[in-house]
Amino acid sequence: MQKYHVDQNGFYGEFGGAYIPEILYDNVENLKNNYLKILEDPKFKKEYYSLLKDYVGRPSPLYLTRRLSEKYGCKIYLKREDLNHTGAHKINNTIGQILIAQRMGKTRIIAETGAGQHGVATATVCALMGMECIVYMGKVDVERQKLNVEKMHMLGATVVSVTSGNMTLKDATNEAIRDWCSNPSNTYYIIGSTVGPHPYPDMVARLQAIISEETRKQLLEKEKRETPDYVIACVGGGSNAAGMIYHFLDEPSVKIILAEAAGKGINSGESAATIHLGKLGIIHGSKTLIMQSEDGQIEEPYSISAGLDYPGIGPMHANLSKIGRSEVLAITDDEAMNSAFELTRLEGIIPAIESAHALGVLNKKKFKKEDIIVICLSGRGDKDMETFIKEQEKR
Ligand SMILES: *Cc1c(COP(=O)(O)O)cnc(C)c1O
Repeated sequence: MQKYHVDQNGFYGEFGGAYIPEILYDNVENLKNNYLKILEDPKFKKEYYSLLKDYVGRPSPLYLTRRLSEKYGCKIYLKREDLNHTGAHKINNTIGQILIAQRMGKTRIIAETGAGQHGVATATVCALMGMECIVYMGKVDVERQKLNVEKMHMLGATVVSVTSGNMTLKDATNEAIRDWCSNPSNTYYIIGSTVGPHPYPDMVARLQAIISEETRKQLLEKEKRETPDYVIACVGGGSNAAGMIYHFLDEPSVKIILAEAAGKGINSGESAATIHLGKLGIIHGSKTLIMQSEDGQIEEPYSISAGLDYPGIGPMHANLSKIGRSEVLAITDDEAMNSAFELTRLEGIIPAIESAHALGVLNKKKFKKEDIIVICLSGRGDKDMETFIKEQEKR
């Protein structure tokens, strides 16, 4: 059997690993030696599942679209992560990690955030658990994501505006790692996607795997079969995609299509299509594909959606694409915006622009009438209204 999951050393094929400063070695080693035990502990499971149910609102519905299915001539289901508390899939991960932090005896939580979605999801669970929360965010992002910054403040978090580098997500992540190095004993770092040093990518994938776990049960109920023909998701760092595909990876009949952000076009110099354009390197503790210049400088990615413009990609997805288990398509800003408006008008659902990239795949593939397709609707579009309003004025 081909290797889709992480190996003992924290690698997915040639990607992954834990490239960390010496000072964090004990911390990461400790987490590595304990995360599986914690995740499998019945007491942890009980608390995690009960919070997912009563606090997050899971299971999220698996909704069979009517007019969208009709338009594309196949059966299209949406996995409604947009209906979760805080509006996206990110809370599945932060709930799990804060329970892990408590079990590791940590008292102080740090996180990085780009658009602010992971920052809000982290500040939310810190309020829930009464824990100190510090969120690192690039100054540029602080200015363009005011609403999320104010939500974090209201939830009691400290937001640190980062002024190094380009003052965006990559720099916020560097600063969070620096904080972690200075406070290794009491601090737990909640990473927001399937990125970072091992065991984070695997741990986050397992915490998001609830998405496909539920989908299998829901499909069995609705279609008398547990597996669809296609699963489709967008990839930034890769966490909603990892959750959507996790329990289908070992089912060869399920085709996996992932959408990364092409921005203004793969060859425009303004994109975040890391799997198409990236070259092997090390970023934030992990060996993976990275958008970089000839001499190895990390290039600032661009996408209309703030959640997809990470210059790296989770090592799991670098590997799945390389070995051909997934097909990765690059969806442009314009294609994603068209799909967002289409879903809104056909189904009365305003999606996050990230999720609209996954919907963009529908225009790029031919499906058969009997095909069953599940698309991960990773989040709702409320946060993107400013961008949608600008677009609407143009139309
Ligand atoms: C953050 C975010 C993403 C991208 O992150 P992944 O880790 O790739 O899932 C996608 N959709 C929404 C709604 C997000 O908030």
